[in-house]
Amino acid sequence: MKITDIQIHVLKSPLAEPFAFSQGWVRQRSATLVEVTTDEGISGWGEAFAQGLEPPEIAATVIDKALRPLVVGANPLDSEVLWHRMYHLTRDYGRKGSVVAGISAIDMALWDIAGKFHGLPVYQLLGGAFRTQVQPYATGFYRIRGQGEASRLAEEALRHYEAGFTLMKVKLGYGVDDDIAVMQAIGRAIQGKPIGLMIDTNHGYGRAEALRLGRALADYNLRWYEEPVAPEDIQGYVEMRAKLSMPIAGGENEHSMYGFRELLAAGAIDIAQPDLGSCGGISAGRHIAALAQAHGVLVNPHVWGSAIAQAASLQFIAALPVAHHSLFAQQPVLEYDRSSHPFREQLVAEPLRLQDGRVEIPARPGLGVEVNRDVLKKYRA
Ligand code: CA
Repeated sequence: MKITDIQIHVLKSPLAEPFAFSQGWVRQRSATLVEVTTDEGISGWGEAFAQGLEPPEIAATVIDKALRPLVVGANPLDSEVLWHRMYHLTRDYGRKGSVVAGISAIDMALWDIAGKFHGLPVYQLLGGAFRTQVQPYATGFYRIRGQGEASRLAEEALRHYEAGFTLMKVKLGYGVDDDIAVMQAIGRAIQGKPIGLMIDTNHGYGRAEALRLGRALADYNLRWYEEPVAPEDIQGYVEMRAKLSMPIAGGENEHSMYGFRELLAAGAIDIAQPDLGSCGGISAGRHIAALAQAHGVLVNPHVWGSAIAQAASLQFIAALPVAHHSLFAQQPVLEYDRSSHPFREQLVAEPLRLQDGRVEIPARPGLGVEVNRDVLKKYRA
């Protein structure tokens, strides 16, 4: 079997109502998808993570100009070989960001092809499923004005709960006082309900403010505090871990085993959050999971992409060992972004569904997605 080509699909859809996270206003949904085709009629789907502020054309150009020539003609089952080829031959201008996101998309598609070739779900190729379903957590609480939205966000928490979510991640980083007001309002609204919370400031603060926020929220029993400081400030992460009581999470803006090595060796995180569309794909996710396991650090993938990235994340979560074995060990949870997103709901035949508070992990071959080509056409940039 040989790779014959890579089709690149850049999708965009304007948002009816722009929303903010701590780094800026998101005005459109975008995605960079790839379809790797072979001479045996099997094709595989992958996705390069497009962060809300990132033009999806950057990763598309990397794939088109830099990566395509490295993989066309190769055996798609050589996923590890091709990962190292793509990484090494882009090292001098890559290693991070959209170049590794491009590698991620192709790698994900190669695992999809391998699954379809063998007639097995990707988790089986990764060594089997530790779990067949996963608890999702609601990601939401974006801002539509910016500040002063505590009461609206408290109501949002109740909506997630009514939809079946008992874990939710609150977006913060809009000013420490505003953040605290939001958490107090949410705390009052959910009092007495079995709801666990995480917070995520998207590295909106420096160390002093990040510490002040963490100390103010010490009694919220947070499952984690995500991206408290900038991804480059590894010593800042170390300081958060030393001075705050809640687990510290990070890694969605880190890449490959080399990047995660720095976080893990420094003792910077309790929870590693590689995004499969950005860390280097499923192969890199595997490298990172092994490194994290050796450091006693939990892995909980980040996912904010389309239905394709979500499908890859589900397969990967199935095959993740727990970091600390016990009868009631903490299991990975699935990030379930609750903001409106046509590339999740419409793109595939079977989008994510919540059943009794859980998401089933598909056992169909490959990533288990069937892409609706009309949707590709509709949103093509
Ligand atoms: Ca995040």
